[in-house]
Amino acid sequence: MMRSKRIALIIAATCVSASLLLSGCNKNNIEASKEFYAMDTQMSIKCTGENSKKAIDKCVDRIYSLESILSVTIDESEVSKINSGKNVKLSSDVKDLLNTSIDISDKTGGAFDIALYPLIECWGFRSGELNIPDNDELEKYLSTCTMSEFEYSKGDDTIQLCNNQGIDFGGIAKGYASDEVVKILKNNGIKSAYMSLGGNVYCLGLKKDNSKWRVGIVNPTAPNDTNSLLGIVSVRDRAVVTSGGYERYLEDEKTGKKYHHILDPSTGYPADNDLISVTIVSENGIMADCLSTACYVMGLEKSIEYWNKYGQIDKFDIILMTKDENVFITKGLDGAFESKINYSIVGD
Ligand code: ADP
Ligand code: MG
Repeated sequence: MMRSKRIALIIAATCVSASLLLSGCNKNNIEASKEFYAMDTQMSIKCTGENSKKAIDKCVDRIYSLESILSVTIDESEVSKINSGKNVKLSSDVKDLLNTSIDISDKTGGAFDIALYPLIECWGFRSGELNIPDNDELEKYLSTCTMSEFEYSKGDDTIQLCNNQGIDFGGIAKGYASDEVVKILKNNGIKSAYMSLGGNVYCLGLKKDNSKWRVGIVNPTAPNDTNSLLGIVSVRDRAVVTSGGYERYLEDEKTGKKYHHILDPSTGYPADNDLISVTIVSENGIMADCLSTACYVMGLEKSIEYWNKYGQIDKFDIILMTKDENVFITKGLDGAFESKINYSIVGD
């Protein structure tokens, strides 16, 4: 049975589906919001500005067009063509995603790997039917399901995969989409917006009352209890993205054991270390999305090491929660994070 519990990152704002609210006569205060389903998840965008309605429609069109390119379930999508072994001339979107995926895979020592797709299918994360691969099966998948086996180098205009290879942008596409949405909003003069693309949150500018957006992070030990948040982060112009094993998993009906959807490329099994939740706060949605997945695979110590090395250069911060319910935040969030749980500030 496939359970999907999307992280609910809560904002002090209510969304009105496909509506246009006029506040007073000031055109700059025109609010619009839309809720819709795309990329296999629930999405919402809300913004304020003279062109808010038009801007949101353009954003939604862009997301649907990305979905038609990136979906692994739409047969004619570019990614499906790649996965069927065709020689494919790459669109600029897929090229961007491939190139960032290669960078992050290299920098995280392979913790992030879009080439795991055949193994993700084998586990049943697409069909919803759990299948626990045996060691022989795992060995076979792990030897081919890695980007290091691809005959593709950064910048190539085409790609052709071998048999048994496949890609899946599930750990990066929503972050990329959020960056595309932000570009469209800015090009349409929007200075204040909030979106959640299946839990990939981006807060543009400030709220109407000129305060920062306050994004609540779900506590994995009580995911349905909004009174028991892991914490709240106050931001402007930032993506806030959480990965956790409690979000999507398959349950073995006999043993009750849960298998979640983030695989550790070194074992082929769902990542299992000291972490239960990773949130990345970054200027960059794509970075926040793939790093939340990668840090969840790397575990606490390596994630902090990664931040020490790249946090300043790549402009991101991390909020981590361990199995024993300790919370850690990297230095850049000092003053922007609040929690009822005691937390430690980490990083050099
Ligand atoms: P979600 O997409 O549910 O928000 P993530 O951003 O953490 O969660 O991405 C998880 C998705 O990424 C999985 O459903 C799968 O499609 C893909 N994935 C799983 N493990 C990895 C990995 N180690 N590297 C890259 N992508 C992965
Ligand atoms: Mg991710």
